[in-house]
Amino acid sequence: MSVMESTATMAKRGLVMVITGNGKGKTTAAFGQALRAVGQGYRVCIIQFMKGRKYGEVLAIEKHLPGITFYQFGLDSFVMRDNPAPVDVELARQGFEKAKEVIGSGEYNMVILDEINVAVDFNLIPEEEMLSLTRSKPAELDLLLTGRYASDKLKEIADLVSEVTEIKHHYNAGIKDRAGIEY
Ligand code: ATP
Ligand code: MG
Repeated sequence: MSVMESTATMAKRGLVMVITGNGKGKTTAAFGQALRAVGQGYRVCIIQFMKGRKYGEVLAIEKHLPGITFYQFGLDSFVMRDNPAPVDVELARQGFEKAKEVIGSGEYNMVILDEINVAVDFNLIPEEEMLSLTRSKPAELDLLLTGRYASDKLKEIADLVSEVTEIKHHYNAGIKDRAGIEY
């Protein structure tokens, strides 16, 4: 049996993937990954933390992509890093409970936790709980965690870490909040 054949017949090992960094492109990369996976017949669930807006990708899923289950836990306003509002803490907590539920359910091939790294960095979700959930995921599940400030311990246990680095952003030239680009 060739290496290729033995790999194909082996039970698939799901990956832990992290997309972090200060440049633009993390959430859009994660939704691109979801698009690729759903095209291959995967059951995909995305949980988005700390955001409350109907982004273009959310509208596209609602309209065209019934194979992707999407949950959002956040408000359309900034969370204060040093003094988050109780509602922000509560929503992050609810999102994390949902993440535990969908990861444990075995219903999905891929779960994406968008902006969870920020929620952990802001202490809305305890780092140890996020790490323990990641470590105990079902073996075959692909788990993707996004957001700036990914924890060092998460990077250690991940199979893949990509860092998006800002070289330039049009925001600095005063071009802000474009439909189809930012939302
Ligand atoms: P996107 O959702 O476009 O993939 P992202 O997930 O990498 O971006 P976030 O940190 O989640 O970035 O911030 C989302 C919003 O902030 C987007 O509207 C994006 O254009 C903007 N943004 C991201 N990086 C920067 C940056 N370096 N400077 C200014 N604005 C940024
Ligand atoms: Mg993002």
